[in-house]
Amino acid sequence: MAQQNVAGQNAARKAFASSADLDDKEQTLEVLADGVYALTAEGDPNVGAVEGEDFLVCFEAMATPVAARGWLRRLREHTDKPVRYLVLSHYHAVRVLGASAFDADVVVAHENTRALVAERGEQDWASEFARMPRLATGAESVPGLTWPTLTFSDRLTIDLGGDRGDLVLEYCGRGHTEGDLVAWLPKQRILYAGDLVESEAALYTGDAFHREWASSTLDRVAAYEAEVLVGGRGAATRGRAAVTAAIEQTRDFLAVLIREVGAVHEAGGTLKDAFDRAHAALEPRYGRWPIFEHCLPFDVSRLWDELSGVERPVIWTAERDREVWAQLQS
Ligand SMILES: [Zn+2]
Repeated sequence: MAQQNVAGQNAARKAFASSADLDDKEQTLEVLADGVYALTAEGDPNVGAVEGEDFLVCFEAMATPVAARGWLRRLREHTDKPVRYLVLSHYHAVRVLGASAFDADVVVAHENTRALVAERGEQDWASEFARMPRLATGAESVPGLTWPTLTFSDRLTIDLGGDRGDLVLEYCGRGHTEGDLVAWLPKQRILYAGDLVESEAALYTGDAFHREWASSTLDRVAAYEAEVLVGGRGAATRGRAAVTAAIEQTRDFLAVLIREVGAVHEAGGTLKDAFDRAHAALEPRYGRWPIFEHCLPFDVSRLWDELSGVERPVIWTAERDREVWAQLQS
């Protein structure tokens, strides 16, 4: 019996990416402050919304319009204001392709995100939907790529009206991708950090700039001194200690990855050696967190390239995903 269980675990772990993860996650709508919302889902991508005086700002769009409409139904129990701004933290398909459901006047992203959609949006769509088929529910409802209609380079401030204060969108440097933004409510001290910070969920770093993310970019995220932080996945963290813990968990994951993969790279080892060593070092602390086994082959592959001097992440295609998976996770 014990042996059967072990065999079953191994089989589940080796299924491609999250293709065997088909159980629905429970979604929780959290009211973080008056008119400030997050929908978290046990490690699935988080989304949020902020009320202006007579409009809404939505943060992230989910993977498909069908999925997004489920979130909007929940949100409509709290407010019926129209969505003026849809803010996208970065270009990844599972966060942007539900955009049409919001009927937003303006779709906001960092300028690098717009360029990344143009350069690799199609490939990323195919890659992510194959990696995470459960999130792609209602895939046929996606009308096409999501194009930001308003972009910025450093900072964009949205006046929420009345005494609601501002929503500040800022670029903190390269990190999870080349174009991550964060959304900051200075009055309420609430930060939506996108995938730059995960809370008890593994990091996806397949499109990342590891060394900048682990240093200057996370330093900037920490400098907000947020009281509440909504990361890309996992529960909203409340209180300075919990916020700091989420940021430092993210930094630690990156630091261990850089250290272990770096050691093999420097010693002239192989990519597979680097994967095995990183897995062994990270697994005790992070192995049980959502998408750990899914992410790690892609993470190590990109970091290996980064350490080899490949400046920008190689585009992931559905085919390349399978090749890297077969090479490292089997
Ligand atoms: Zn992402």
